[in-house]
Amino acid sequence: MPNTKQNQIHQSIALSAVIPCYNEVDGIDELYRRVTAACQQQVGQSYEIVLVIDGATDGTRHAIFDLAARDPHLVAVDLARNYGHQIALSAGLDICRGQRILILDADLQDPPELVGQMMAKMDEGYDVVYGQRLKRDGESWFKLASAAMFYRLLRKMVDVDIAPDTGDFRLMSRRTLDHLNSMPERYRFIRGMVSWIGLRQVALPYERCRRFAGTTHYPFKKMLLLAMDAMTSFSIAPLRFASHLGLIFGFFGLFALGYTFCSWIAGNVLPGWTSLAAIVLILGSVQLLVLGIFGEYLGRMYMETKRRPLYLVNEIVSYDAISARQDL
Ligand code: UDP
Ligand code: MG
Repeated sequence: MPNTKQNQIHQSIALSAVIPCYNEVDGIDELYRRVTAACQQQVGQSYEIVLVIDGATDGTRHAIFDLAARDPHLVAVDLARNYGHQIALSAGLDICRGQRILILDADLQDPPELVGQMMAKMDEGYDVVYGQRLKRDGESWFKLASAAMFYRLLRKMVDVDIAPDTGDFRLMSRRTLDHLNSMPERYRFIRGMVSWIGLRQVALPYERCRRFAGTTHYPFKKMLLLAMDAMTSFSIAPLRFASHLGLIFGFFGLFALGYTFCSWIAGNVLPGWTSLAAIVLILGSVQLLVLGIFGEYLGRMYMETKRRPLYLVNEIVSYDAISARQDL
């Protein structure tokens, strides 16, 4: 028997909210309530919420499946394991069907209510409206300082105009998302990839809130990895930096040689095994650093050449799928 409730939604989905969720069990109900209210206020019933479960180990999966079985606006995508934030988000972006796509975090740090202002900006003809953080509540000084430094460094290294102090919180047009989905790379820095696409983009300044519940899933190591992915996928400046280092140390060596030679002419033989040892050590470390930089690029190239799928889906649970099963 055709399900009229589900057909009404499918005819055209004006807005998709895509939300990657790791271990977020304590915030899921509040997230669902606030995102639903914000979407309904903007587009009535013509919306979907895609919740991607990124290998969660707490009760997140259960909580989301429960909601998806009750509400036809929800699509729960359960990934085969934990792939990390950017890949989980990419999975949701592949699956969503809306004409406009809102990307959110599950912890309510980015207020879903701002979708109204984002939609208004998009009505003016923009393709992307990205949230730009004015203030970030409840985050450590270290995170704030390192993020500020990272964005400024990245902007210096990269030709693409990646706005500072942005996250993935943004509203995108369908054509922008189609371009994004056509980019197959596996080291994904999505905010940078969207900037790379171009089209008309505009910032919406906002104040980032505290997490609603739980703690961050981005410890220092993961932040560093994301920063490395961003730099290596958008720039080859570090490779150039390697050759610049070679030049700098080459000049330094020539200068030292000239100095020693002049001293010898003047009758002073410079004693110096300590300085020699220091120079050898410095040069050794520079060479290793350069090798490391090469290795970062080479390793990424190796992983890309395998062309494995970005992610595997365990199960997609939605009201449609469940009622189709019941209709059999
Ligand atoms: N997340 C994910 N997989 C992970 C880590 C995080 O899907 O392996 C999700 C998480 O549930 C949240 C978003 O990515 O919705 C951002 O993570 P988090 O809030 O921990 O990062 P922060 O805001 O502290 O940078
Ligand atoms: Mg967060």
